[in-house]
Amino acid sequence: MIPPVASQFVAGTTEAEALEHARQLREQGIHTICNVLGEHYHEPAAASGDVERYRRLCRDVAGTDLGACISVKPSQIGLGIDEATFRENLGAIVETARDGGVFVWIDMEDRTTTDATLDAFERFVTEYPEMGVCVQANLRRTEEDLQRLAGLPGTVRLVKGAYDEPKRVAYTDRTAVDEQYRTHLKYLFSESSAGAVAVGSHDPRMIQRAIELHDAYGTEFEIQMLMGVREDAQAELVEEYDVYQYVPYGDKWLSYFSRRVMERRENLTFALRAILNR
Ligand SMILES: Cc1cc2nc3c(=O)[nH]c(=O)nc-3n(C[C@H](O)[C@H](O)[C@H](O)COP(=O)(O)OP(=O)(O)OC[C@H]3O[C@@H](n4cnc5c(N)ncnc54)[C@H](O)[C@@H]3O)c2cc1C
Repeated sequence: MIPPVASQFVAGTTEAEALEHARQLREQGIHTICNVLGEHYHEPAAASGDVERYRRLCRDVAGTDLGACISVKPSQIGLGIDEATFRENLGAIVETARDGGVFVWIDMEDRTTTDATLDAFERFVTEYPEMGVCVQANLRRTEEDLQRLAGLPGTVRLVKGAYDEPKRVAYTDRTAVDEQYRTHLKYLFSESSAGAVAVGSHDPRMIQRAIELHDAYGTEFEIQMLMGVREDAQAELVEEYDVYQYVPYGDKWLSYFSRRVMERRENLTFALRAILNR
């Protein structure tokens, strides 16, 4: 059980709770991207445990009409051990997802993982196009990465980037990251041959820009936001656009919850109030 204060951002500890949340979202027309919380594993057994959880989730999702996707972190399924383990584990997840027609997202972690993540994506997406990968606008290399991805099937999720990176590889100033985000959005909507664009942002300015680009170029797109963040906007946007909510669950909820609380003063105030009023 997670405490009520954390349930704004995390669906629960079990798959049943995540699927119940997905069911409630589905009633509002919002799609779900399920993420089993976990990262930075250095033990094969820990990685295999989560690989099995994802495979079970794929089988269970396939038996419903929820149309939920999954999103996996490379360091959760073996990249912290070695690249071969990561690929083998990703392959096992993709095989089960393909059997059930489940869409597989690969999250992007820090800069040391970008090459291995994109290589693995390229390896599997050519066999199973129901896949997507995340790219980060803060990284200087992203323009080139997008050109590489433009030649592949699958979908790209553009985010600003959640990891603190050094200046030599990343834009660290918020305005510069926003500018990069807009530039990459334009590329994805206007030039990339990718079927659809996933806008992974809560920023109303970036979402507005995506809507303008969709109107100008007709490229399909979806808006992706996190559970517990701007849910009022998610409910409004779904009236006109495809909206996906990223729904984390699992035993390792505490570090994820702490990150959400610390990134925004309002979230911290909300958490403190909930704890003090108990
Ligand atoms: C679905 C999804 C998947 C992601 N996957 C990855 C990943 O794989 N790798 C990775 O590095 N990062 C990932 N991220 C995180 C991402 O990189 C950013 O760190 C995060 O989304 C914050 O940037 P932002 O674009 O949402 O807006 P910010 O720059 O944080 O905020 C811009 C504006 O958005 C509005 N806003 C933001 N948060 C709130 C809020 N809580 N309440 C009200 N208004 C708000 C405000 O107007 C704010 O000024 C993901 C994000 C999402 C939504």
